[in-house]
Amino acid sequence: MTATKAYAAQSASSPLSSWSFERREPGPKDVQFDILYCGVCHTDIHLVRNEWGSSVYPMVPGHEIVGRVTRVGNQVRKFKTGDLVGVGCLVDSCRDCENCAEGLEQYCLNGNSPTYNGKEQDKKTITYGGYSKMMVTNEDFVLRVSDKLPLQAVAPLLCAGITTYSPLKHWRIGKGHKIGVLGLGGLGHMAVKFGVAFGAEVTMLSGSASKEADAKRLGAHKFLLTKDEQQLKKVNGYFDFIIDTVSAPHDHNLYLGLLRTNGVLICVGAPPTPTQILGFNLIGGRKSIAGSLIGGLPETQEMLDYCAANNIVSDVEMIDMKDISTAYERMLKGDVRYRFVIDMASL
Ligand code: NAP
Ligand code: ZN
Ligand code: ZN
Repeated sequence: MTATKAYAAQSASSPLSSWSFERREPGPKDVQFDILYCGVCHTDIHLVRNEWGSSVYPMVPGHEIVGRVTRVGNQVRKFKTGDLVGVGCLVDSCRDCENCAEGLEQYCLNGNSPTYNGKEQDKKTITYGGYSKMMVTNEDFVLRVSDKLPLQAVAPLLCAGITTYSPLKHWRIGKGHKIGVLGLGGLGHMAVKFGVAFGAEVTMLSGSASKEADAKRLGAHKFLLTKDEQQLKKVNGYFDFIIDTVSAPHDHNLYLGLLRTNGVLICVGAPPTPTQILGFNLIGGRKSIAGSLIGGLPETQEMLDYCAANNIVSDVEMIDMKDISTAYERMLKGDVRYRFVIDMASL
């Protein structure tokens, strides 16, 4: 066992603070790596504050992890000491069910092992995430990271990137489609980048007027302020797809109205409370509301390789570990441009 420095939440109401725990010695198929950077996802806030009712403490958040390999087990084939690697939201799954067989480990029918606030496949050992100095992960859940891209800006691809890439691929979104991206935060800014890269016409639907210039710089073709009824009226029945990345409760009915016939409202944001949908808003126009969870391991590697080939990274603001509470407060105000990334050297 190796003592590992970390930042942890001890309860839903206490601020994150310094903590130490033990990581396992690498087994034959394990990769041990030093964490260099970890992105800050809004899921970290939901879980730290127990907004989804599933939190276990102490909790070490963080699932947008990049680092450098320091040790490998004797059966590891994909990695060697010195390699750059990434770990996203999953560290294992049953590897046996039909979804795992298809590389959809995120939908493992026997329960995947999330990177933190979950359990390993022994269903006993608690997992601890990337707000820490070092990690030991089975090589099948470790991703190859290009040395061509700035590493800190690659970290958010491991969650914000794959969570927006995967639904765009699943619904074959591209040339000829008009898409709306709701909410310009970590997920939203990656949805804009991928939507543009795939050839769709992208409209940013944001609650923050101050983000218009950034949305355009990120590649959005249009920008609409969701608070302004007149602006929304102009896009009634307009979009083929809307990617909804909003983290807080909001009225989904409003956005169903912006979809054209057969349009799909794809929810990736996970507000903690249920939403009420008026059936008529789906019936009139054969519309759908759908969801999508991160992405499986093969698709995550595909996304990272696509980003390396097309020079796509996240727009990041670096922070020190001790400033995590301030970063959370700013995210809750929508003040993030567009992903906070922790420099783990500051821990
Ligand atoms: P984020 O960086 O905090 O961005 C969320 C954005 O939503 C904000 O920047 C803001 O954009 C908008 N927003 C916030 N509060 C709002 C409100 N009350 N009404 C309307 N808009 C509001 O969060 P994130 O990291 O992108 O995560 C977004 C959500 O996705 C979270 O719920 C997270 O848990 C979830 N998530 C899901 C998956 C998945 O697999 N499905 C993966 C990762 C994260 P504007 O200023 O532009 O309005
Ligand atoms: Zn995440
Ligand atoms: Zn499975």
